[in-house]
Amino acid sequence: MREAARILVPEWDNNRPESNALGTLSLLLWARTCDGQRTPDKVPLQELQGALNAPPLATGEPAIREEIWEALETAGFRPPAPLGDRHPVWEICSVLSDQYRVVAPDGPEPPGASPMRDVTPGLAERLARLPENGRRAGIPDIVPGTLHVDADTIILSSAHSLSPLRCNHETCPTRGGHLVVDGPAARFVCPDRHTSSYWRLSAAHARRALEQTGRAPWTQGRVQVKGPFYITVADRAEDARPTDNVFLNAR
Ligand SMILES: [Zn+2]
Repeated sequence: MREAARILVPEWDNNRPESNALGTLSLLLWARTCDGQRTPDKVPLQELQGALNAPPLATGEPAIREEIWEALETAGFRPPAPLGDRHPVWEICSVLSDQYRVVAPDGPEPPGASPMRDVTPGLAERLARLPENGRRAGIPDIVPGTLHVDADTIILSSAHSLSPLRCNHETCPTRGGHLVVDGPAARFVCPDRHTSSYWRLSAAHARRALEQTGRAPWTQGRVQVKGPFYITVADRAEDARPTDNVFLNAR
């Protein structure tokens, strides 16, 4: 997954279904390395491109689907397994290979193209544009460290609302507290040390919000922010500015 992300970062576009491209490329890299003979960063881009460009199966689905399914079978990840007890790698694969999803209410009847089929040609084109030696250029290493942000208030910002993060305990102070971002998890710790998480608070959005304070998103350690710290809500694009809000714009 990490190697697939590194490959896709130069052309990452939040307006596209990038998670399908990421999932597909991750599964392909996994299928080519699950025998333990090499690590994902050692798989040449040209080889991946060749796999993505291979003639499709009779169903129209990409050839990599067969390769990934076989690798899952060999690894013992492919069902039959009781529902709810399936391997997560198989779950990801099964969503990406689903030909029975409803694309549009007035669209063609299933079975149709799977998400994997939709993203495969575009992936091959992206890989063709990427120089082999430029694979790592400009891509920051993923930092393992935790980020703590102390602020007067931590506020989730959507286009039409501002929601200060508060603890559920009524007796706790309404100001202060801090944000902890640890890997993919983000949580709020109130001044009395109660921890809360919110579905609209995402680690990625919180890291991007650091840019308002002149810091890089991959900053780690403790950060003090004067005044409120605005974070874009998780259901908006990661690069949407937290200050792009009716109340903040009106100031
Ligand atoms: Zn509290």
